Amino acid sequence: MSTAATALRNAGLRVTKPRVAVLEVLGSMPHATADDVATQVRARLGTVSVQAVYDVLAAETRAGLVRRLDMAGSPARFEARTGDNHHHMVCRSCGRITDVDCAVGRRPCLTPNDSSGYRVDEAEVVYWGLCPDCQFAKDA
Ligand SMILES: [Zn+2]
Ligand SMILES: [Zn+2]
Repeated sequence: MSTAATALRNAGLRVTKPRVAVLEVLGSMPHATADDVATQVRARLGTVSVQAVYDVLAAETRAGLVRRLDMAGSPARFEARTGDNHHHMVCRSCGRITDVDCAVGRRPCLTPNDSSGYRVDEAEVVYWGLCPDCQFAKDA
């Protein structure tokens, strides 16, 4: 059985071809949009509706197999690297997204000086800047 099928089973989800395909696509294409995923899944399986891919992404996100990223100015991105609380660097110019390991490795890795009575369970960290390629293009 494939790694993706095992992951689905362990998460209590029924193993279906679209679910396996979505996980495999995200494994090789991190931070993909739902449209990117749908294109790749259709290339593998033929007839799969975009709505079906959205449904699979939602189910796998709920099950903790997929992490959804909502970045300002960009459609939602999805990735199969979950559970390590890693962060992201985003290029302001080309939109490239790069993983950054979390030094702490679990949520929340930052605690506010004053939590105002909230019980904080996550700190979302996004570093914005210019990627190496865009810095080079700018300097050239
Ligand atoms: Zn860039
Ligand atoms: Zn990531």
